[in-house]
Amino acid sequence: MKMYYNKDVDANVLKNKTVAVIGYGSQGLAQSRNMADSGLNVVVGLRKNGNSWKAASDAGMDVMSVEDAAEQGDVVHVLIPDEIQGKVYETSIKDKLEEGNTISFSHGYNIHYGYIKPAENINITMIAPKGPGSMVRQQYLEGFGVPGLVAVERDATGDALKIALAMGQGAGLTKAGVLETTFKEETETDLFGEQAVLCGGVTGLINAGFQTLVEAGYQPEIAYFETCHEMKLIVDLIYKKGFGNMWHDVSNTAEFGGLAIRDRIVTDETRKEMKQVLKEIQTGEFTKEFATENNAGAPMLNSLRRIEDDLQIEKVGAKLRKACGLQKED
Ligand code: NAD
Ligand code: MG
Ligand code: MG
Ligand code: MG
Ligand code: MG
Repeated sequence: MKMYYNKDVDANVLKNKTVAVIGYGSQGLAQSRNMADSGLNVVVGLRKNGNSWKAASDAGMDVMSVEDAAEQGDVVHVLIPDEIQGKVYETSIKDKLEEGNTISFSHGYNIHYGYIKPAENINITMIAPKGPGSMVRQQYLEGFGVPGLVAVERDATGDALKIALAMGQGAGLTKAGVLETTFKEETETDLFGEQAVLCGGVTGLINAGFQTLVEAGYQPEIAYFETCHEMKLIVDLIYKKGFGNMWHDVSNTAEFGGLAIRDRIVTDETRKEMKQVLKEIQTGEFTKEFATENNAGAPMLNSLRRIEDDLQIEKVGAKLRKACGLQKED
């Protein structure tokens, strides 16, 4: 394991360089503002008249078209949604990259699966926070940082890693620590994590538990508290000090029940399916499906979103969070 901290960063490598952040969404906002506040020369590239344009210029950022930003940038840090990066690269970035420039990402998707193929004389780097943009900005403002990953897919200039680390320091990540990885490892593990464990796994587990209780006749509100609300409390204990800390904090009843029963919930069949899901990520099968979906205007995603909106747990949860003052606006 190779971990980098502030002390390992040579900030001078970006001193006379401009970082063009493309996009001002979750990561674009957080990273561009952190980098600017850290003293890096930052410009933001956006679509003219898009919603982000006003937000970014109101925040005092130097905003311009994607083409102009890519032209000005010695480093072009691409922070727009993964599924449109390939198109925007072709139309607005590719021709603006010059020998010795760096193209940078926070997810290896488009490089790893070959949707973006920069010329041989361009550095290809990644600096990726392990956390959502809101956290990246908030932690920075509070004087901390979220941890991150760094990777170099191509080092054309000899200092690609230095450049990526200096960006990481600007974004506040090297304060917590930045772990070295590869584009392949980051991309495949990130996709697997969000599908099987985090976004897909957690919501699937919560909802299955919720439905089991409701179908058995228990109050939906009780089911919500038990399967959804308490999830955060348990995960917080694990996040802080590991499984052992959580097992220690819950009752012996919960500890015995949890340890003795869990293999009946996550079964050999589940593990087999996890391996299959990982295989489809590694072979590019998932990526192909996502591309087909996007080319068709995202019909499946839109219908899945509607089904998700209609879930009973979503209705019960909204009502309950409001009643308990748990849901803050925003
Ligand atoms: P996002 O969906 O929040 O990005 C939206 C931004 O992209 C907006 O500013 C929008 O104006 C801009 N945009 C959209 N289409 C555009 C176009 N055609 N031309 C120019 N700008 C356009 O994106 P995100 O979630 O911040 O993700 C950005 C990258 O960061 C992705 O590679 C993602 O995988 C990675 N990442 C995201 C997170 C996260 O927490 N969201 C975490 C780690 C890595
Ligand atoms: Mg991830
Ligand atoms: Mg991801
Ligand atoms: Mg309980
Ligand atoms: Mg205990």
